[in-house]
Amino acid sequence: MSKLTEVQQKTSNGSHAIVIGGSMAGLLSARILAEHFEYVTVVERDHLPQQPETRHGVPQGHHVHVMLTGGYRILEQLFPGMEAELTTAGAPSVNWTAESCFFHARGWGYRGSSDLVTRTCSRAFLEWVVRRRLSNYRNIEFLSATQVKGLVTNTDNSRVTGVKLCCLDDSQEQELTSDFVVDASGRNSQLPKWLEKIGYESPSETMINSFLGYSTCWYEPPENFQADWKVLYVVSQPPHDKRGGALYPIEGNRWGVILIGISRDYPPTDEAGFIEFARSLRTPEIYQFVKDAKPITPIHGYRRTENCWHHYEKLSRMPDSLVAIGDAVCAFNPIYGQGMTTAALGALTLHDCLQKQQHNFTGLTKQFQKQLAKVLETPWLMATGEDFRWDTTEGGQPDKITQFMHRYMDEVMEISVKDPDVYRLFVEVMHMVKQPNSLFAPSVVIRVLGQVVNSVLSNNTFSKIKVLKTEG
Ligand SMILES: Cc1cc2nc3c(=O)[nH]c(=O)nc-3n(C[C@H](O)[C@H](O)[C@H](O)COP(=O)(O)OP(=O)(O)OC[C@H]3O[C@@H](n4cnc5c(N)ncnc54)[C@H](O)[C@@H]3O)c2cc1C
Repeated sequence: MSKLTEVQQKTSNGSHAIVIGGSMAGLLSARILAEHFEYVTVVERDHLPQQPETRHGVPQGHHVHVMLTGGYRILEQLFPGMEAELTTAGAPSVNWTAESCFFHARGWGYRGSSDLVTRTCSRAFLEWVVRRRLSNYRNIEFLSATQVKGLVTNTDNSRVTGVKLCCLDDSQEQELTSDFVVDASGRNSQLPKWLEKIGYESPSETMINSFLGYSTCWYEPPENFQADWKVLYVVSQPPHDKRGGALYPIEGNRWGVILIGISRDYPPTDEAGFIEFARSLRTPEIYQFVKDAKPITPIHGYRRTENCWHHYEKLSRMPDSLVAIGDAVCAFNPIYGQGMTTAALGALTLHDCLQKQQHNFTGLTKQFQKQLAKVLETPWLMATGEDFRWDTTEGGQPDKITQFMHRYMDEVMEISVKDPDVYRLFVEVMHMVKQPNSLFAPSVVIRVLGQVVNSVLSNNTFSKIKVLKTEG
């Protein structure tokens, strides 16, 4: 009996949810659905590897993936003991304010201690650990090497009742019925087309593209490599310096080097070009590492980094028993590291909605997509706001609030060079542990105002001295 037939039979006698896509958003959704349905099936197009391996359907897995502290804490909540598993596997622990060096437009962030501590690991390893934990759930099944091709609906198309799918070794389309479907199939989700096919509008989309490119290579560190930091991040500096990069340790004493270029200043994927690009950064640490370290992978490039939001929350009609989550709804410019944390927040939102609705799915779709949109607003504004610092960014113009935020954040960054409290707060916001409005706490606003007044006064004093000198 094929695995599909087995799943079809097993799930026919109980409540059943299907998740399309077995990457981070799909896995975290499955974890939530397992509390609300008797059976959960994760349908994944790829063959799922037995070991932590980068796979075809998740090409971004070749690149450094930071699980921000906000997301990391959700993971530990959903999978207690995850931290211990990462520790056993040799994933380094990083205190993000004390052991991570951040070189921004105004200098190095002031390092000091905090409770922002996570373990860093490869994307493939993280996904594998989560998948392995889910495979211990008796009510979760994985249908791998199986592609979803469309939706199955009731006679008036008002409710989704399953999916059409195809095993990769058999071109014949089959159906798997369910009470609920979650689309977590990523940036290339076909859900807009599937909706049109059954008589619904597809969602409008907002796309904001700063044309950022990645190149990543993994290394064994140079012999006797020593540093007083564990992660190093050099950001690009608008309006002219388009380049940045990061050094990031993971399990197995491997280090990822990512180089990024914004405004189409794409970093090369050949070794000589990669090293030369590293040399052109504003600080030498990444170059010094790369020139002496031993590469253990090819250099991988990536350019699909536009922020793209499919506005399911604005649709006037959607069939019941269907939701979309993760990158399938909103994918961010990855340099801000928000994707997996936002997927985790989306999964918690799903839990909230399912809990409230008590198995009555009528209206849940709309309610979920609207609630999810609220969750997406903050990371969206953070990512697109930064991208709008570049006048080459396409898809819109910075409004007055964004322009004000740029100026305010410039002052905050200036202060963060000498003030550990402000730097910590900034990192807490970046790591999605605190809301951006915490940067407008009176204690911060006072420091910002003090700095602005100081710089106005010193500029005036400076110009007076100049006038006196000229007159003299
Ligand atoms: C270069 C790069 C770097 C990134 N760095 C970070 C980072 O540092 N931190 C962070 O949090 N996020 C990062 N992200 C974002 C992160 O990868 C995603 O947000 C995260 O993986 C969640 O995506 P997802 O699960 O929604 O979709 P995806 O990861 O794209 O997965 C979609 C899954 O669906 C499967 N699938 C697709 N179509 C079908 C179908 N029809 N039937 C069955 N299966 C299907 C695919 O095979 C795949 O497994 C980065 C992204 C990129 C591109």
